[in-house]
Amino acid sequence: MADPATPGDSLAWRRLERRFARERTARSEAETIAEDATRRLYREQIKLEAILQVATRANESNDIEETTRQGLASLTEHTVWKCAHIFYRDPSDRLSAVAWVDHLAGSDTSREAPWTTCGQELLNQANGVRCEFFDEPPFAAGASASGHGLQHCCICSISVHGRCFGLIEAFSNVPDRDQALSREFFEGIAQTLGYVYKREHDRRMIEHMAYHDPLTGLGNRAQLFDHLDLAIRRARREQHKVAVMAINVDRFRDINDSAGTRAGDAFLVELAQRIQSSIRDIDTVARLGGDEFMIVFDGLGDSEDITTLGQRLLRNLTPEALNAKRATQTPTPTQSAGVAIYPDDARDAEGLAHCAETAMQRAKAEGGDRLVAYDPALAQRNEQRRQLEQQVRAAAEQGAFAPYYQPLVELPSERVIGAEALLRWQMADAPGPDVFIPILERLGLMHEVGTQVLRTALQHASQWLNEGRDLQRISVNVSPVQLQDDRILDTLDQILAETGLPADRVCLEITENVYLEGDEHIRTRMAALRARGIAIALDDFGTGYSSLGYLQWLSLDTLKIDKSFVFGVADQKHHLNLVRSIIGIAEALELAVTAEGIETPEIARLIAALGCTYGQGYHYGRAMPADELWARLAWPRGPGRIPGNDPQ
Ligand code: C2E
Ligand code: MG
Ligand code: MG
Repeated sequence: MADPATPGDSLAWRRLERRFARERTARSEAETIAEDATRRLYREQIKLEAILQVATRANESNDIEETTRQGLASLTEHTVWKCAHIFYRDPSDRLSAVAWVDHLAGSDTSREAPWTTCGQELLNQANGVRCEFFDEPPFAAGASASGHGLQHCCICSISVHGRCFGLIEAFSNVPDRDQALSREFFEGIAQTLGYVYKREHDRRMIEHMAYHDPLTGLGNRAQLFDHLDLAIRRARREQHKVAVMAINVDRFRDINDSAGTRAGDAFLVELAQRIQSSIRDIDTVARLGGDEFMIVFDGLGDSEDITTLGQRLLRNLTPEALNAKRATQTPTPTQSAGVAIYPDDARDAEGLAHCAETAMQRAKAEGGDRLVAYDPALAQRNEQRRQLEQQVRAAAEQGAFAPYYQPLVELPSERVIGAEALLRWQMADAPGPDVFIPILERLGLMHEVGTQVLRTALQHASQWLNEGRDLQRISVNVSPVQLQDDRILDTLDQILAETGLPADRVCLEITENVYLEGDEHIRTRMAALRARGIAIALDDFGTGYSSLGYLQWLSLDTLKIDKSFVFGVADQKHHLNLVRSIIGIAEALELAVTAEGIETPEIARLIAALGCTYGQGYHYGRAMPADELWARLAWPRGPGRIPGNDPQ
């Protein structure tokens, strides 16, 4: 028998021992790997189960809060992240905490975590972040978490297709040794919640859109009527009153036309905010569309006077009050308002709103910038107004508006050297242009009718000139609506070409009622008109917004002194002084001056003595048909004049 202790054998033995040792190490390594893999598998399985559970809960309950809580519970149970909260971002971008857990504090939903105030900061900074780990809370608000010993932080956004609908923020007092797995956990839960949040977001968005005005963020008509219905029902039960106030911006179109629709929108937003901040908490305001707002004043007692309440509100909306906040140079319009009361004026929402609107229309018809309380006679007057609008529309279609001509005299000679075209509605007992022009503007027909006036007036003027009359100036009033329209230059060029009238015989009269300053388009357009030789007169000077800067900016060449100042020159010293100063300003600016409203020989004499360039008024003649004006026009001075034929 061989002795195992022989040298040869001991070599074999040692080899054997080494092999056994290698095999033992390999087995133990394999066991560790297998154990690790099993652990991983187990955690993977737990992760999948947890995510699946959240997904199932989402499908079953469709409840954002419950699903969120489920997600948080799984996350905090299976990772080291024992404190966590989840934020939801609503359609108006506000973040609200949906759920939180704080296992370290020994409770889960019992108290709000101290760091839930990070809000917007967190969202802004986490934009684009999917899942990130920090050894210290990265945000200022998170500091309070580290104060609690929770210095490790993980943030994961809840996003769908790159849109962030919420955030998970978690804290831990120990470092995470398996961040890769935790990341999968966070992302898996976030992805599942993402669809629930998106669905909720879309639902809230649709709901919001159905009840809100997108421009101002105020409620819309649907919301207002819901509130009004409720308020009326409550008022019926509790025997109190409800008032409805309709507010409409006066000449809102002017802002849009002169400063552009953006400025118009900005004004509406500002007005909306102002109304909102001026009403009581229990009242509701809505934008019904365009420049129309409506307010429901709820729970009014017998002693409360709605007119006083309404007046107080309107005082907060005056141009002065609004101007304090406005950076723009365009003038701030006034508002017209109407009120109606339940149960006095109507007993249901529709009826009440209709009464308030009727009263508001009355306020407008009375010149705007006022509050009118509903009374039944208003409805009848509104009906008359509606009929008048219909008649104006029909008249415009039938070409029933035509220019008449008021003589324009040169001073001091008093020779008729031109005329102002004044629009007349050719119908018995027709109202004057002061009545129908605002209607034409409101109906959007002014450009069309204004172009007809221009064409007819220039045709007549050209004819008079061709017939040898000394026609120096044909003045045509243009509405701001026409001036703000790009087509005016082409229209004028075309009419000048058609009629052959030299451009320097044409004068366009613009009123200062609309503030055009600051609008570069208008400035360029005016300059283009002036470059053609067309004169521009500022009508009714002294009654509008004029400033000296404005006069220069407009590149004018004539000021027309408003007749209200001219009427008084003979018997009111301050009117005489005023007219004298206006003429002084015009001289300084090298502008011609026309005095309108010269009714008597005495006024004519005084005005001429003050150095006025031109005069107009009943003393020289009212607006008359073209053939009568023709007979009044002067013949040229000097050679070519036909003696005896000059009517002057
Ligand atoms: P306006 O351009 O200032 O015209 C002068 C107004 O004063 C005219 O009234 C004229 O008839 C009146 N008037 C003239 N002389 C006297 C006088 O001695 N005494 C009195 N009491 N009144 C006098 P009308 O024709 O009623 O026109 C009113 C306004 O309507 C015009 O004021 C003008 O702003 C506007 N308008 C008239 N025709 C047109 C037009 O074709 N287009 C535009 N856009 N506006 C027009
Ligand atoms: Mg005029
Ligand atoms: Mg005038």
